[in-house]
Amino acid sequence: MSRSEPQQPSRTRIACLPGDCIGPEVMAVAQRILRELAPDLELEDHLFGGVAIRATGDSLPDETLEACRSSDAVLKAPVGDPEFDAADVRPEQGMLRLRAELDVYTNLRPAREGPVDMLIVRELVGGLYFGARGVRDDGTVFDTCEYHPSQVERIARRAFALARARRGKLTSVDKANVLETSRMWRRVVHEVATDYPDVEVEDMLVDNAAMQLASSPEQFDVIVTENMFGDILSDLAAAMTGGLGLAPSASLGDSGPGIFEPVHGSAPDIAGRDVANPAAMVRSTALMLEHGLGRDGEARALEGAVESALRDAPTPDLGGRASTTEFADAVVEALAR
Ligand code: NAD
Repeated sequence: MSRSEPQQPSRTRIACLPGDCIGPEVMAVAQRILRELAPDLELEDHLFGGVAIRATGDSLPDETLEACRSSDAVLKAPVGDPEFDAADVRPEQGMLRLRAELDVYTNLRPAREGPVDMLIVRELVGGLYFGARGVRDDGTVFDTCEYHPSQVERIARRAFALARARRGKLTSVDKANVLETSRMWRRVVHEVATDYPDVEVEDMLVDNAAMQLASSPEQFDVIVTENMFGDILSDLAAAMTGGLGLAPSASLGDSGPGIFEPVHGSAPDIAGRDVANPAAMVRSTALMLEHGLGRDGEARALEGAVESALRDAPTPDLGGRASTTEFADAVVEALAR
């Protein structure tokens, strides 16, 4: 009989995608903080976005996709570079592919400030961004919004479960007065609702939702909506609660790694000057600790440290003077207190 090998403690591996322009600057902050807060995590950098196109011709090289698949979580900085704006192969294509490959169908976009504390749950791998598209013989160009009821059911269940763990109110946003997909969306949401009698559910048309978000955002707890409506409404919610530099996101599937990334883009206009606000990247790291790794205590500590850094060392986009590095110093100091 062979002697059994000593059991290795299982490693928690984070696939880090530093991306383009300010991407590597804000990723460096997240990694510095993780080394302080959770030194057991293994952080591995992989090529993704414009930097990957330059090196391999592909924005999502096979090696990167495999590393993401086999990781416990994907921590992603923004991609995109004006150099590729008119190119056939663009950094953003890799982003849509990575989401689809990992089947991360739930996008969480928390927005908090003062009395506002809402969570937008956006469907991420269906609808207009993934439906049939093309050009007809007569020159008409089309994109199609498509959903299968099973896609609506799984996002609705996720949203009800999240609402149950919060203040128990769910707003489902659609355009059921016009769109077939929205009428099906509404029907499925109400079918799922019967399993969550403790959650109060309301329907809201997307145009009204935009107005309500702008005029009285404090009424919302959890909002669930399809891909494009969620894309637009979550940016509006971000603008209402401090701007893009502060907004994090988490994209989750049913099993397998989630993707955790700031909402903002790669900000080529300020790249390389140590002035980017890393708060959204660090908050995305906190979402990774909470939703990706189940490390709620560290997530809460990190969120608290970001709040304190935002008070002590605001970056220029917030009207302050702190550099990216000084903001990171303030987070690390707050964590040590
Ligand atoms: P952007 O979010 O990069 O920039 C918009 C404005 O906000 C700019 O003035 C920028 O300086 C500022 N800004 C953004 N993030 C900031 C931060 N952390 N700190 C301080 N200021 C910040 O949007 P854009 O200019 O429309 O797009 C630039 C590139 O990013 C494009 O190639 C776009 O496709 C890409 N993009 C990528 C993602 C992603 O990777 N998830 C998301 C959006 C846009």
